[in-house]
Amino acid sequence: MSSSFAIDHLTGVDDSHLVALPDGHRLQPAVAEAWQRLVRDARGAGFDLATASSYRDFGRQGAIWNAKAAGQRSVHDDAGNPVDMAALTPAQQMHAILRFSALPGTSRHHWGTDLDVFDAAAVPADYAVQLTPAEVAPGGPFDALHTWLDARMAAGESHGFYRPYAIDRGGVAPERWHLSYAPLALDCAGRVGASELRDCWNRHLPQGLLLRGEVEAELDVLLARYVSVAQGWCPGGIAGQH
Ligand SMILES: [Zn+2]
Repeated sequence: MSSSFAIDHLTGVDDSHLVALPDGHRLQPAVAEAWQRLVRDARGAGFDLATASSYRDFGRQGAIWNAKAAGQRSVHDDAGNPVDMAALTPAQQMHAILRFSALPGTSRHHWGTDLDVFDAAAVPADYAVQLTPAEVAPGGPFDALHTWLDARMAAGESHGFYRPYAIDRGGVAPERWHLSYAPLALDCAGRVGASELRDCWNRHLPQGLLLRGEVEAELDVLLARYVSVAQGWCPGGIAGQH
């Protein structure tokens, strides 16, 4: 199983292994089937389980990274407030971005196994989903959905979905909205290393990676802190166990 995905699939460069759902979001076929089962269960419980983000390709992740590094797209802190990037050193800027955005080539959204979700029944049709901690916290519009999901996961009835970022381990912030399909995602975790990433940035990011000097200076540490630890979920456990 561990060789079933090529590096180009894991870094979001090749999307040939994906299928499109009716809402246009793309996932691996087995993930799409499991997701639709979870959506049906949610509907039975009164939720309209919807996708804010699913597959995201390498080019898109590169554009997000560079826009944040260039100050063209806002970076938020744990409370959901904008970070004053101009007041930070370049290395601090890099860490601020990494709290909520992956280095291009390392996003779990490249795999076709992961989604950011919300409850469309809990907000007006014109509501712009933010994916902020406040939305999914008690009192937020999506807390009820996530409490229901917690119970499904604890009971082993979540069709394989779990929360890779359930606990704050000091790297990626806890993202209650982010679900992952364990049967396939566990095969994807930890397979892209520094050399594959450098190759990817060189070949597929013609405009270059902003803050690359800062990234290169700490790359092994970054991969351990923001990628490996966050991906290190133990098979057989429930969400949050480690
Ligand atoms: Zn996500």
